[in-house]
Amino acid sequence: MPIDIKKVRADFPALDQLINGKNLIYFDNAASTLKARPVIEALNRHYQKDTANVHRGLHFLSEQGTRQFEETRECVKNFIGSEHSHEIIFTKGTTESLNLVAQCYGEKFLEKGDEILLSTLEHHSNIVPWQMAAEKKGAIVKEIPINEKGEILLEEYKKLLGPKTKIVSVTHTSNALGTINPLEEMIPMAHKVGAKFMVDAAQAVAHKPLNVKDLNCDFLAFSSHKIFGPTGVGVLYGKEELLNQMPPYQGGGEMIDRVTFEKTTYNDLPFKFEAGTPHIAGVIALKSALEYVQHIGLENINAYEHELLNYATEKIKSVEGIKIIGTAERKASVISFLLEDIHPQDIGTILDKQGIAIRTGHHCTQPLMDFFKISGTARASFCFYNTKSEIDEFIQGLHKVKEFF
Ligand code: PMP
Repeated sequence: MPIDIKKVRADFPALDQLINGKNLIYFDNAASTLKARPVIEALNRHYQKDTANVHRGLHFLSEQGTRQFEETRECVKNFIGSEHSHEIIFTKGTTESLNLVAQCYGEKFLEKGDEILLSTLEHHSNIVPWQMAAEKKGAIVKEIPINEKGEILLEEYKKLLGPKTKIVSVTHTSNALGTINPLEEMIPMAHKVGAKFMVDAAQAVAHKPLNVKDLNCDFLAFSSHKIFGPTGVGVLYGKEELLNQMPPYQGGGEMIDRVTFEKTTYNDLPFKFEAGTPHIAGVIALKSALEYVQHIGLENINAYEHELLNYATEKIKSVEGIKIIGTAERKASVISFLLEDIHPQDIGTILDKQGIAIRTGHHCTQPLMDFFKISGTARASFCFYNTKSEIDEFIQGLHKVKEFF
C-alpha cells in the first residue's frame, strides 16, 4: 500500500518548522528519528496526569502505570516476534543493551582464549563493550573483514569461526554505509560451531520487519529513539535460557527477590536485569511509536524508503566529484559520500544553512573509516516522511556547496 505522505508528514510536528529561514529537510534519521505525534502525546499524558512509579504501589496510578509499562513489553514481544515477553528487557538504549550482554554473558561464559567475532562495520558501541569484556576474561576480539563495497566477506567469516568462537556480534544494518548484512546466513554458521549470535538492530528496527524467531538470534538490541520513540529507552531481547544463566547487570531495587545482609536472591526475568526506576514515560510512549509504525506497515515503509534510496543514488551521481562510500548490493536508505576534497563538516555546515540536516564525521565507526582510509563522510539518511522533492533540494544544495568552494 503506498504511503500517504502528506498525512504522514502531518504526524511529525518537527517537520513543520523553518531552520535558517528554510523548511526543515531532515536527512539525519540514522542518528535519531523525529517523534510521531502519538508518542509526544503519550509522554505528555504520563507527565501531566499519570505520573507514578511502576511495580510498587497499590494505588490507582501506580497500577495503571504498571499495566501500561507491561503492555509495551507485550507490544515489543509481538513487534519482534519473540516467544515470551520476559525475554524483553528495557534498557537505556542499544548501547546499554550491548554493554549488558558483553558484561553479563561475558562474566558467565567467556574464558581465557575464547574468541569474540565482530565485523569491520560495527558501531563503537558494538566494539568497545566486547573489548572490555575480553580484557577482563583474557578473551580475544577478532574482526570479520569486508570488501570495498562495504559487504561482509562470508568466506573470511567462515574461516574465523571455530571451536573457540563463543559469540558473534554484528549489526543488522550499518549506520555509516547502509549495508544490510546477510544474517540469515551468518547466524546458522555461528550456531554450527556452538557460538551465540547477537544482532545490533539499531538501524534496522524502523525500516524492515524483524523477527527474532525467524532469525534465530540469541540476543538483539535496539533503541526507541531510532523508531520515532523517546530517547533514553532501549530494548534487549535475549533467549530465556541464556538470560536465566547470566548474572544481573546492576544491583538495586526491582531486581531482587529477597535482600538480607548475609545473602541476596534475585528476581525472575525480566526484572533481574531492570534495577531501579526505569524511564516509565519513555517505555509507555514506545508502545505508541511501535503502533504507529505497525499502522503504516514496515513492508510499505521498506518499499518507499527503497524508492527514495534509488532516486537519491541516481541523482547524487549527477553531482560531479561525488564518491559514494558503501555500495553494497543490499542497502538501507543511507548514502555516505565524499565530495571532491571538500571536508564533510563544510558540506554539512553549508547544507545546514539551507535547512538541510545531515550527519558528518566518523559516525562512531572509526575502524570502518580506517578501512576506507578516510576520517569521515557526509551522510544523508532517509525515512518514510521524506520526499523526492526534498532529495532534489538536497542535490541543489550539494551544487551550492561546490559553487562555494
Ligand atoms: N549501533 C548502531 C548501528 C547505531 O547506529 C547506533 C546509534 N548511532 C548504536 C548502535 C548506538 O545506539 P544508542 O546511541 O541509541 O545507544
